[in-house]
Amino acid sequence: MKRILVLFLFGFLNMFFSIHVWAQTQKALDLEKTCFEMLGQFKGASNKELLGRACARVTVLDQCQSVNKVPLFHFQKEGYLKIPKRILVFSLIHGDEIGPGSVGRYWIENLERISPRNTWRVIPILNPDGLALKTRTNLNQIDLNRNFPTKDWSDSAQLYWKKTNMNPRRFPGKAAGSEPEVVCALSHIQDFSPDFVVSIHTPLHVLDFDGPQIRPPKYDYLPWKSLGHFPGSLGRYLWFERETPVLTMELKQELPQKFDTFEKLQDVIGTLVKFETGVHAKQKHLNEISSTQ
Ligand SMILES: [Zn+2]
Repeated sequence: MKRILVLFLFGFLNMFFSIHVWAQTQKALDLEKTCFEMLGQFKGASNKELLGRACARVTVLDQCQSVNKVPLFHFQKEGYLKIPKRILVFSLIHGDEIGPGSVGRYWIENLERISPRNTWRVIPILNPDGLALKTRTNLNQIDLNRNFPTKDWSDSAQLYWKKTNMNPRRFPGKAAGSEPEVVCALSHIQDFSPDFVVSIHTPLHVLDFDGPQIRPPKYDYLPWKSLGHFPGSLGRYLWFERETPVLTMELKQELPQKFDTFEKLQDVIGTLVKFETGVHAKQKHLNEISSTQ
């Protein structure tokens, strides 16, 4: 009798474990398919084989899903340097700016192919619901780039919005960090602890750098220009409150014929992060010295 009971228990545990493994495998396969389909929709250069390999490696942080429960997956590649810098990329924060989706995909494919100097983490579609609806805002009609919990959010975010004609495209929401997509972005900042953040947009045709004063490396495709920052924006949240530099890429509306210009930009970022955080670290060090004197 005892033996039968043990056998029964063993069989039950075995079945439970098999179901668990099957469910996990199924979840990973679903995510791979979602990644391949979602990233496959963007125009421009793409290598299906590299994309397939990259999508097989994407993962999702807990809590990372949109209002409509679409997974906000990410791709990561470790850098080969002894102490690599950590670069975090957010693409498609605004759902009606689809060019960044092509660049996010291109970078992921490129990272899959090469061995990078620095460690990169790319979230290629932060606002999938806005992408599906062709809106700048998310499903709750909130501009994610005004919903980050900056210190001045409660005092200024809605006030600033009201003062600037209450443009529905820039509605910051009713509370700071209220949106699941922003919660996801914040958990990436916490989890990955980036040295440098890149945010990809269209169509203003500039590179806007929120970081220490430096002479930026030359890059012909987009001119360097400061656009300013706002209550609830990623730039204000990260650089002005946390000293993590942010590069906002504002692409042209039309993508270039050849994407090697974006490969070059990846290289420029690799150089910038090295140079820039060097200067930054030095500044921080000087501040520490002066505060102890
Ligand atoms: Zn934008």
